Amino acid sequence: MASAQTPFSLYVHIPYCVSKCPYCDFNSHVVSKIPEQEYTEAVLKELDFYALAGGWRSRSLKSVFFGGGTPSTFRPLSIGKVLEKAASLFSFAQDIEITLEANPGTVDSGNFSGYRSCGVNRISIGAQSFQPHLLKFLGRIHSADETREALRIIGRAGFENFNLDLIYAVSGQSLSDLKADLEEAVSFHPPHLSAYNLTIEEGTPFHREYRLGKIQPLSEETEISMAEMVEEILATEGLEHYEISNYAKPGSSSEHNLNYWQGGDYLGIGAGAHSYKRRHDGGIYGRRWHNEKSPNGYIERVGASGQAVVGEEVADRTTAAGEFMFLGLRLRRGIFVERFSELFGQGPAEFYPQIRLLQEEGFVEEGDGRLRLTRRGFTVANAIFVNFV
Ligand code: SF4
Repeated sequence: MASAQTPFSLYVHIPYCVSKCPYCDFNSHVVSKIPEQEYTEAVLKELDFYALAGGWRSRSLKSVFFGGGTPSTFRPLSIGKVLEKAASLFSFAQDIEITLEANPGTVDSGNFSGYRSCGVNRISIGAQSFQPHLLKFLGRIHSADETREALRIIGRAGFENFNLDLIYAVSGQSLSDLKADLEEAVSFHPPHLSAYNLTIEEGTPFHREYRLGKIQPLSEETEISMAEMVEEILATEGLEHYEISNYAKPGSSSEHNLNYWQGGDYLGIGAGAHSYKRRHDGGIYGRRWHNEKSPNGYIERVGASGQAVVGEEVADRTTAAGEFMFLGLRLRRGIFVERFSELFGQGPAEFYPQIRLLQEEGFVEEGDGRLRLTRRGFTVANAIFVNFV
């Protein structure tokens, strides 16, 4: 149950990128000059606003995540100011995880020791692939050599905890391309690795090309073989498949993302950032809100009123139960059946009779008081989650 003492997570969105990747539907913007100072000042002001509102100040902070966009386009000075402000407003948990996402094309060795000195203790590197033809197809600004160099730089800067992002199931990718990517990735011994199956999102250049027949998706059979290969090769490095797209060595799961998947509270700061807060009287129907997406609009709104909220919603019982299911089932360990019953007054299989069928078909299993997806269920998770929305 959420209480005023329950720790929360802080997300800070840095919405600028050097160029826009054709598959990207994130809130990221390419501008001729990044207004780093104005944007950082808006972030500081928004943090001040939330320190006075909504009871965040009395709670401890268990993780901070600088996501984007490309946070590594900002200097350590700006990142440090945000962390200093957060530390002055909230009490940091002793083992707080502070992650910064970095694009290998923007990695500068001086900056990385700077991020380390100002408190960042985890880096997430967007490698995506080590194959030149796939990096080119994905429209990435970096080369495979830049990723290799970035990994050396973050090691020298003292980051023992890091994540490496890979994208697979890319049109034109072969199983041997994927094998080479995975083998090279594990040669850097990452404590955490995210392997995302490329999805073609509406509104992106890839989606337009796909509709024109210029991008051919891989066959379902190849995608399944690729998913199996990811799991097998990462297992040889001791990377455990703990979430649909995430693998970690024991003790190195992403605390920040675990908070999302387990329905914890988070405060999102910056353009387009989303926040979530449960009721603190034991109620389950949390409130969500989100900020203005345009970076300039965000800066203006925060300048005028200290915050930039443009939309909010309060989850009803059905929405809250659905979220509990599809977020919790993303994790290999699944959901606590008893916890679901406590919150919603019925067991999951009574609330969702279709669970019985999913169990019979071998997609879902129950054991040790938990309900979870089977290995087979994990490969078709999105089709299963449709049952809970
Ligand atoms: S670097 Fe990341 S956020 Fe920026 S455009 Fe590419 S995929 Fe999107």
